[in-house]
Amino acid sequence: MAKKDLPQVETRLYINGKWIEGSEDKRPVINPATGETLIEVHQGGEKETNTAIEAAAAALPTWSAMAPSERAELMNKMADLVEEDAERLATIMTMEQGKPLSQAKGEIQTNVENLRWNAAEGQRVMGEIIPSPATNQWQVRKQPVGVVGAITPWNFPSNMIVRKISPAIAAGCTVVLKPAEDTPLSALALMELFDKAGFPEGVVNILLGDAATIGEILSESDTVKKITFTGSTEVGKTLNEQAAPTLKKVSMELGGHAPFIIFPDADLELAVETLVETKFGNNGQVCTSPNRIFLHKDIKDKATEMIVEKVKAVTVGNGLDDPTTGPLINQEGVEKVVEQMEDATAKGAKVLVGGSEMNEGEYANGFFFEPTVLDGVTKDMDIFYKETFGPVIPLIEFDDEEQVIEDANDSEFGLASYFFATNIHTIDNVSNKLEYGMVGVNDTEISNSATPFGGIKHSGFGRENGTYGVEEYVVVKFVTIRTA
Ligand code: ADP
Repeated sequence: MAKKDLPQVETRLYINGKWIEGSEDKRPVINPATGETLIEVHQGGEKETNTAIEAAAAALPTWSAMAPSERAELMNKMADLVEEDAERLATIMTMEQGKPLSQAKGEIQTNVENLRWNAAEGQRVMGEIIPSPATNQWQVRKQPVGVVGAITPWNFPSNMIVRKISPAIAAGCTVVLKPAEDTPLSALALMELFDKAGFPEGVVNILLGDAATIGEILSESDTVKKITFTGSTEVGKTLNEQAAPTLKKVSMELGGHAPFIIFPDADLELAVETLVETKFGNNGQVCTSPNRIFLHKDIKDKATEMIVEKVKAVTVGNGLDDPTTGPLINQEGVEKVVEQMEDATAKGAKVLVGGSEMNEGEYANGFFFEPTVLDGVTKDMDIFYKETFGPVIPLIEFDDEEQVIEDANDSEFGLASYFFATNIHTIDNVSNKLEYGMVGVNDTEISNSATPFGGIKHSGFGRENGTYGVEEYVVVKFVTIRTA
């Protein structure tokens, strides 16, 4: 297994343009491939959170009044710095999060694209002139919502931050960020670059510390005008409740349980290859990961055989060695997969490949689970309804188009969905009836800088990326001017 020193990275909080030490005890950052402590990072609490909110509020008038082209210039500078520093950022990410180095590099490149896309889009936040009686002029102006509180997860520890911060600052907002406790280093490394790019003090601030304490202050504050959150449905609901009394704007990107349907007329090779590649991306720890695989009975045996063969070729290891897939984020993540596996097999599901935790030899101290294919999954099993967040492909047989749509929709979640088919009627019908915020047809590339990403039902609301993503950070003001 690769051994590498952690690249140089900040461990302090970044508030009002300054690196400060936290008032609470430091917290270790663990490498999930080895179980080793990489470094300890500073932790703040109530005091630091309030200071950061004040700093963001103080920075707002100047930042929001700046010409959009000037904001774009800084954002493009930031994109250049991220691109130049890609190797270090990706190495830090792999060491604290576990994903293979090439996937970490891909995530950094996505940051570069997001920053450039939003830098441009921030200059096109258009208002409107509405046809009016001759006595008046009617205008619609779009203004920045104000101070934004952003809370992000560990699965994409760099891009989840950039896809929130870049539309926010492009629209003229200022931000207080609270990244996930397991992956603070990727966030800190980004803050170093925001600092180096020359953003005015207080425009972006980062807090590390107890999530519940920081989350409560951010969501209850009347100075914070918007909460943007990506994470579990459970925490999302808590934040929503806490944000309700101040009636602030909220965006929620929560859990998912994506169906992946293969119809009998599909290009099977494409479908299977895409399934396995997508499923093992980030080791299945993705809210859009295919989690319930519906195979039509006519192609079930053939597809199963092809899936099993491809999964057997999946390599597992330390992300620095760039295997197909790395470890899970922590032991708790492993336990969740183990529980779903035990429940499913006790109720009759059959393990075709994998099925166990890996804890011997090079895997002994990390958090690994075998790439797994599970056949005969039914609705009485937890895995049918609960988000898996691990390297398991559960297979379900189906016969009828309308029935599989109903089963695919039988979930509290509504984030991503995928199906493979060639018949135009099937493509139109299924796209129309799937109750999901995103549908991939013969495709799983649903996350792009230009396209709206987000869910319905208990997967949340609001959209990230694209024009819709920037709209989340503006408020509409109607102005009527009497002219006669
Ligand atoms: P996951 O299960 O993927 O870890 P979480 O929802 O627990 O998802 O975590 C996503 C983010 O939410 C992380 O930054 C985490 O620290 C934060 N978080 C966890 N609990 C709370 C809370 N009570 N209030 C605010 N943020 C929280």
